[in-house]
Amino acid sequence: MKQEANGVFEKLFIIWFRDITAWIWEGRRPVRNTAIAIVVILALDVFLLTASVKDFFRLKEAAIYDIPSILYAIGDNGKYEPIAEYYKFSRIPVDLKALPPEKTQSLGDHRNKVIQSFLSTEDNQFYSHSGIDLKGIARAFVVNILAGRVKEGASTITQQVARLKYLTIERSIARKAREAWLAMLLEFAYPKDKILEVYLNEIPLGHGTIGVGAASRFYFRKEIQDVSWGEAAILASLTTRPTQFSPLTNPLSSVQKVRVVFKKLIENGRLSVADAEKEYISLMDYYANLNRSPNDSAFSDRLNRFPYVTEYIRKNLLKTIGKDRLYNGGLKIYSTIQIRHQEEAEKAMKPALQQQTLESNQRAFRNVDAFDDQFGASYDIISDLHDIPEFKFKISRTERTFQSAYQEEIRDVFSTLNLLSGDDDLGELLDKNYSNQSTQDHLLPVEGSLIAIRPNSGYITAVVGGSGFRSDNQQIRSFQAFRQPGSAFKPILYAAAMDYSGKNPDPIKNVTPATLFVDSPLQYLMEDGDEWAPENYSSEYSGFVLLRKALEQSKNSVAVRVLEQIGLSNIMDTLRGLLQLPGRDIPYNFSVSLGSFELTPYELTRAYTALASGGKTVNPLSVLYVENQYGEIIKDYRKEFDDSDRKQVISPEAAYLITDMMGDVITEGTGRSAMSYGLNRKAYGKTGTTNNFRDAWFVGYTPELVTSVWFGYDVGTISLGRGMTGGRLSAPVWGRFMARALEREPRAEFEWAKSVNIVRRTICTMSGKLPGPQCHETMEEGFIPSTVPKDICNDHGSSWNVVETPSVRPQGTTPKPKVSVNANKPKVEAVVPQTTAKKKKKKSLFSGDEDIDY
Ligand SMILES: [Zn+2]
Repeated sequence: MKQEANGVFEKLFIIWFRDITAWIWEGRRPVRNTAIAIVVILALDVFLLTASVKDFFRLKEAAIYDIPSILYAIGDNGKYEPIAEYYKFSRIPVDLKALPPEKTQSLGDHRNKVIQSFLSTEDNQFYSHSGIDLKGIARAFVVNILAGRVKEGASTITQQVARLKYLTIERSIARKAREAWLAMLLEFAYPKDKILEVYLNEIPLGHGTIGVGAASRFYFRKEIQDVSWGEAAILASLTTRPTQFSPLTNPLSSVQKVRVVFKKLIENGRLSVADAEKEYISLMDYYANLNRSPNDSAFSDRLNRFPYVTEYIRKNLLKTIGKDRLYNGGLKIYSTIQIRHQEEAEKAMKPALQQQTLESNQRAFRNVDAFDDQFGASYDIISDLHDIPEFKFKISRTERTFQSAYQEEIRDVFSTLNLLSGDDDLGELLDKNYSNQSTQDHLLPVEGSLIAIRPNSGYITAVVGGSGFRSDNQQIRSFQAFRQPGSAFKPILYAAAMDYSGKNPDPIKNVTPATLFVDSPLQYLMEDGDEWAPENYSSEYSGFVLLRKALEQSKNSVAVRVLEQIGLSNIMDTLRGLLQLPGRDIPYNFSVSLGSFELTPYELTRAYTALASGGKTVNPLSVLYVENQYGEIIKDYRKEFDDSDRKQVISPEAAYLITDMMGDVITEGTGRSAMSYGLNRKAYGKTGTTNNFRDAWFVGYTPELVTSVWFGYDVGTISLGRGMTGGRLSAPVWGRFMARALEREPRAEFEWAKSVNIVRRTICTMSGKLPGPQCHETMEEGFIPSTVPKDICNDHGSSWNVVETPSVRPQGTTPKPKVSVNANKPKVEAVVPQTTAKKKKKKSLFSGDEDIDY
């Protein structure tokens, strides 16, 4: 629609000259008028010099509307489908010709009622003036100069377009003059209808809407072509201070303003009194039935299928694309999200988190004072009895610390005391409090994360960042929650250890899947002899165990011994390479072996992705490329992700062995529930559970996809509840997601695994050595060539009891050892050579459950 601006100067000059001379000589006070005209012309000339050249080039912008950007994800057929829009304001551009004329109108003008309402309210002379009201401008100049400040005069629609398109909202004399200059340029460059159309599409009408198209859909749930006279009047009433006159926020003010619009329609001869009355009365139904929140916004109407994805990608794009282009640029953003994966991820996570919230049943005490009133007196007695430090509610505890203190220190003490003493009063008190708090609202939501990454490409195909993306719950925990990985860290540790052994073979210190470790508590300081019965003590530990078996059963004592044997300093660089934590470091401490430092789910998943891709790091991607509205690629993230950036952190052989070992975790070990949804392909993974059941993890992969699932409370000190392990909570969710997400995908293979240099040997299942004539049971195991065992087992015969062990029940000869809840309880601090101080024991019913992992 843009018209060439050729000859504008000439036309401009002629019209100016004509209008101004007429005004000077036909006016009553020619001298004063001349002076004013000179001021106006001088002022405009200044802008002619400073702004005109630029403004000419910007004229075409008038016909370009801000367009929302669209986020696409990959559909089942491999085609891209829109999943979200990014915009600041809702806008549905309207073509003026699409607005039907009012043929039934008895009065003169047959233009559409929306047009008539706006013309009548804003600029009834629009079709006859030349862009600015010269008299008004001149008057405003003098008034403003005399007043020493800027008073906003009435603007023509053209001036408003100039302001909306080119100018900031700051008020100044300079801006006013510039607005007039631009208005005249617009009048020359565009026909009246086009200027009006731009106006109707650019005018902000409240609640996040821009233009009549979006406003009509927002206020009336109607297309603009279908609105009534009354509805058109409402739209026209919103041009100044749309919030104040919004029918949603201030229906009474709105009605009054609408009356003014009708009055002007009558005054300007556009509507008869009878018609106006009829329309006005029928509009009252709209107000009567208006049942909308004052906070309603067109923003919540936008396309947003997967809010966690929308938000994560938005945050990333803001860094590289910038706000303006993202919200207004009409970009097409092609993500790596796979719609099927994302849907299945949400279907797996949401009900599981809701269910777990009920099951974990941690209540939020909203009212600290109420707690003090009910429990304050009894607490003193209990704290005496149980040697708990005095609990000061009102003074020193914020609600948050109160919350965790209650969960950690008091709740179970109360329960136990009640149980032991049979004190009904206390029980009643507890019940009462619980029932007071028993609405769902007061249950603390269990949060979680699921993130899936393709190991071959690094494409992130699904992200669930919590129990639901809401205004009060916007954390995307997959990237923002720092949590201890617990036993889910073991595969990374073992892979690094096996890799080091392969490169630095040492027959005594080699770590291989067949390395024999002692799984016993003997070297560890137990916390409290009274609580640990001797029979537990002996049946919990399997004595000697091969590393493969130790991973399968998540033996904590073995993880510590692996680190002791290999030396943390020898594998520190490898761990850093696998985890990639810029700005942070892995603590130099033996408790690292039990995953006692914090990682985000994303970081842990990325490390597994390296294991799944043959020991090479992967650079995860969420957006492939971004196109502008003309289909030109303006940002290509695939180029930034260059294959040569990938680093071989561990050997493919070490990656192969750890992958193979993680296969046993799922078929025979702590991760068996990962297969409960019938995943139709071989999978590899590891559970993780941290102290006091605060975190439940499962991280695992197939050749197609690496996925992590995490459960926990946002307040990291609150327990998910006794027995809530990664194997119980997270592995089934992982399995459900993987089974359904991959259902229709063809099976892939680990291409890198085809060329690994792994030697297979038959070994003695009990010793891990090459079998001797007396060995009862053998198995096949893979080795990095430099670490193949050379010793022949002569342990098994008449005198195989060579090592003093606490309670050896050799694996393979007996049924699977019974695993009790209290299994594997090394006091980690005690085996850390650098740390001699014994950690103060914390008393709670849950203490003693540290480091359990099924
Ligand atoms: Zn043997």
